Amino acid sequence: MRKSFWLDTLPERDPHAPLDGPADAEVCIVGGGYTGLWAALYAKSLEPGRDVVLLEATRCGAGASGRNGGFLQSSLTHGIGNGLSRFPDELEQLERLGLANFDALADDLQTLEIDAELEPTGDLLVALEPRELADLEEEAELLRRFGHDAQLLDGERVRAEVNSPMYLGGLWTRTGSALVHPGKLADGLRSAAVGAGVRIHEYSPVREIQKTSVGVSVTTEGGVLDARRALLATSAYPPLLRAIGRYIAPVYDYVLVTEPLSPGARETIGWAGRQGVGDLGNQFHYYRLTADWRILWGGYDAVYRYGGPVGPQLDDHEPTFAMLSQHFFATFPQLEGLRFSHRWGGAIDTCSRFSVFFGTGLGGRVAYALGYTGLGVGASRFGARVGLDLLDGRTNEATALAMVRRRPVPFPPEPLRTGVIQLTRNRLAAADRNNGRRGLWLRTLDRLGLGFDS
Ligand SMILES: Cc1cc2nc3c(=O)[nH]c(=O)nc-3n(C[C@H](O)[C@H](O)[C@H](O)COP(=O)(O)OP(=O)(O)OC[C@H]3O[C@@H](n4cnc5c(N)ncnc54)[C@H](O)[C@@H]3O)c2cc1C
Repeated sequence: MRKSFWLDTLPERDPHAPLDGPADAEVCIVGGGYTGLWAALYAKSLEPGRDVVLLEATRCGAGASGRNGGFLQSSLTHGIGNGLSRFPDELEQLERLGLANFDALADDLQTLEIDAELEPTGDLLVALEPRELADLEEEAELLRRFGHDAQLLDGERVRAEVNSPMYLGGLWTRTGSALVHPGKLADGLRSAAVGAGVRIHEYSPVREIQKTSVGVSVTTEGGVLDARRALLATSAYPPLLRAIGRYIAPVYDYVLVTEPLSPGARETIGWAGRQGVGDLGNQFHYYRLTADWRILWGGYDAVYRYGGPVGPQLDDHEPTFAMLSQHFFATFPQLEGLRFSHRWGGAIDTCSRFSVFFGTGLGGRVAYALGYTGLGVGASRFGARVGLDLLDGRTNEATALAMVRRRPVPFPPEPLRTGVIQLTRNRLAAADRNNGRRGLWLRTLDRLGLGFDS
C-alpha cells in the first residue's frame, strides 16, 4: 500500500484491537472514514448512553478520507452546476443546508479540539482555454445567484495570485470553500469518537450482515457483533448489501506531492492566498499547498477497472503518475527539476448523479450513505447525519429532500458497465480536445441525467 503524504506525516497510533469473538451493541457502524466517524460522533451526541461500535477493515482514515486533496467544500451536490441540473427545485435548500453543514463542521473542529489545519482560503477555478472564460462567467453568475462571494479575475490578476503561464482567467470563490489536512481530520475524528465513548475495532473487516429477530448480526473475520441497527459507511469498497452495488462504480484517482518549495521557488509562483486550485476541463486537475509548502497535484485520469476492484495493489499507477508529472511541469515550468516525494491513489465511490445517496435494507435495520463521487470531505458530515437519522427513524428537513429519498440511476452490470464507462471517459476526453463540444453520446447521457465524474 502506498501511504498518502497526509498519513505518512501523522504520528503513529496504536491500532484499536480487532473484534474478537461475540459482542453486542445498540448501533454498529461499518467503516472508519469521515462518514462512519461523523456518524459515530452524532450517535453519541444524540444519546450519550447509547452503545456504539465502529468496525473498520484496516485503519480509520486509510480509505479516501486519508488520501484526498483536502478541498473542503460546502456543496452537497458535487458543485452548484451539477446540483442545478439534477435537483433544480431543491438547490436553494441544498445550498443552504450545505453552507450550514460547512459552518457546523468548522465549529465542531473547534469544540472537539481537532486541529485539521483548516484554511479558509476559498478556491480558484482557472481557465486554460479561451472558450473556458465564458464557463467561468457562467459559474460566477450561478454562484452569486445562490449568495456566494465569487470574483472573476482576468489573466493578469489570476497569474498574480498563482503564477502559471497557462492561466487565461480565474474565478475566486471565497465562500463555502476551504482546505484541510485530510489525515489530521480523520485522526482527530477517531480520537474524538473514542473520547465520546465509541468502541472502535480496527482490522475488523465485515464479511456479512444478516437480519435477526431483534436486529442484525454483523460477522467480521474474528467475531460476531449483534446490534439493533447498522449504518454502512463503506464508500467504494465491496458493498455489504447487494442493492448498493448497482449504484456505485469504484474509480481510482491519483495524486502527487512535491518536496517543499525552496524560498526561491516560492517567489516564482506567488500563491500568497494559498487557495485550492482546479481547472475546468471534463478531465480536471486539482492542486493546493500543504502547510510546509509542498504542492499536492491530483486528478485528471479517473481510472475504472473491469469489475470495480478496490485494494492496496491499485494505489500505484505509473502511467497516471507520469502523465500528472508532465501536466504539473507544463503548468509550472519555472519549477522544472522539483521532485515528488509522495504518490498514491485512492478509490472514489462514483455514482451516476455525483452526490451522496441513501437507502435502507434488511427491514430498516440497516442504512447507508455513500456515492460522494470525489467531493465528500464536507458532504460526509451531512451524509453521516442523514444516514443515522434514517436509521433511527427521525424525520427532518434533510430526510424529506428528494435528493435523500431518491437513488441515482444504476450503472448497468458488467461487462456493459466497463464498456459504458470507458466510452463515456473517451467522449469526455474528446470533448476537452474539441473545444468543449459534447457529442451525441454525452448529450444523450445529459438528457437522461446520467454521467461519469470523479
Ligand atoms: C485521491 C482522492 C482525492 C479526493 N479529493 C477530495 C477533495 O479534495 N475534496 C473532497 O471533498 N473529496 C475528495 N475526495 C473524496 C473524499 O475523500 C471522500 O468522499 C470521503 O473521504 C468519503 O468518506 P467515507 O467515510 O465515505 O469513505 P472512506 O474514507 O473511503 O471510508 C470507508 C471506510 O470503510 C472501510 N470499509 C469498507 N468496507 C468495509 C467492511 N466490509 N468492513 C469494515 N470496514 C470497511 C474502509 O476500510 C474505509 O476505511 C477524494 C478522494 C480521493 C480518493
